Amino acid sequence: MKTNLIEQAENVFAPTYSRFPIVFEKGRGCVLTDIDGKDYIDFLAGIAVCNLGHAHPDVAKALTLQAGKLFHVSNLYYTIPQTALAERLIKLSFADKIFFCNSGAEANEAAIKLARKYSMGNGNKERYRIIAMEKSFHGRTMATLSATGQPKIRAGFEPVLDGFDFVPFNNIEALESAITPSTCAVMAEPIQGEGGLRCPGPDYLKTVKKICEENDLLLIFDEIQTGMGRTGKLFAYEHFNITPDIMTLAKALGNGLPIGAMLAKKEVADAFTPGSHASTFGGTPIVTAAALEVLKVFEKENIVDHAMEMGTYLKEKLVWLKQRHTRIEDVRGMGLLLGMRLNTPGAPIVKSCMENGFLINCIQENILRFIPPLIVTTDEIDSLIACLDDIL
Ligand SMILES: *Cc1c(COP(=O)(O)O)cnc(C)c1O
Repeated sequence: MKTNLIEQAENVFAPTYSRFPIVFEKGRGCVLTDIDGKDYIDFLAGIAVCNLGHAHPDVAKALTLQAGKLFHVSNLYYTIPQTALAERLIKLSFADKIFFCNSGAEANEAAIKLARKYSMGNGNKERYRIIAMEKSFHGRTMATLSATGQPKIRAGFEPVLDGFDFVPFNNIEALESAITPSTCAVMAEPIQGEGGLRCPGPDYLKTVKKICEENDLLLIFDEIQTGMGRTGKLFAYEHFNITPDIMTLAKALGNGLPIGAMLAKKEVADAFTPGSHASTFGGTPIVTAAALEVLKVFEKENIVDHAMEMGTYLKEKLVWLKQRHTRIEDVRGMGLLLGMRLNTPGAPIVKSCMENGFLINCIQENILRFIPPLIVTTDEIDSLIACLDDIL
């Protein structure tokens, strides 16, 4: 049955993914079960999406309740869950205003459009360029791949959109010399995710913020991967005592329901006018009811503090592995956004982990990434570490 299904799937899907030969049927907490009944402990969480694990009963219940009432009406009208979620996110963040959409790329599209509209609306039609980071990842739509500082992601789709200049992450001089009269914003992930889990150096982001203020540039943080407790704070910017002007969220916001959001300070957000930007599905009652319940569970179960604790625990264990295995070059990341760089390819280790019932992934060829649900336990971490110790 499994081989059949995989064959059928490969016949019909456009070949955009190279998938592992597992067919999943269900999940609970940090455990996923395939159609043969084999269990896997999930250290991927759907790529930093299922922060409360799989099939969280409270989220499932909120979703079911809302499904019995109303799926969708259009943003031509108001709904209770959409407004409640917006108010809660604003209360928890630096922002005053929010725009809902369906994915990370779409949230970044909104951020890029807003930065341009705000800057050009201030009377200077030449101010449209955004400085982005080398090795960044902002999405796969034409504008967001144009903002992504990885040539392999743009390859084959040129010409990309004009208006993005790239500087190396963690390099202040390069940033300063890239600013021109056409620059309107700086866009960055506070910790680079897909690009290799690179953390900012001490004071880097603080200095970036200062440079933005001095040059009247907007600061856009893509917190699609780092947000929602992943780094041990609800939003990663909280680690650095600064706030951006615009922030984007998606991935874990709905714990698996497709929802994205762009948050901004009022003065900036007000550059949009009715008709400037839109999304048919953006913030439907069904996804916002789920996301609202996610935030309630975060509060009720102290999820962000737990993520910080488990992140510290897992990082210590990874450092312990590094002392035992010369194949490990370094351990990197914050909270439960952690990675381990090897001096050999990571793919065979990902495969062995999978055979032993653990899901991890590998980015940039040789960096193993560990992004479990934030509800992960020390027992689950210990069992992964024992498995990695054996394999290495
Ligand atoms: C995943 C990701 C995106 C893209 O999100 P999609 O929902 O796949 O469009 C953008 N930025 C960052 C930092 C991400 O991790």
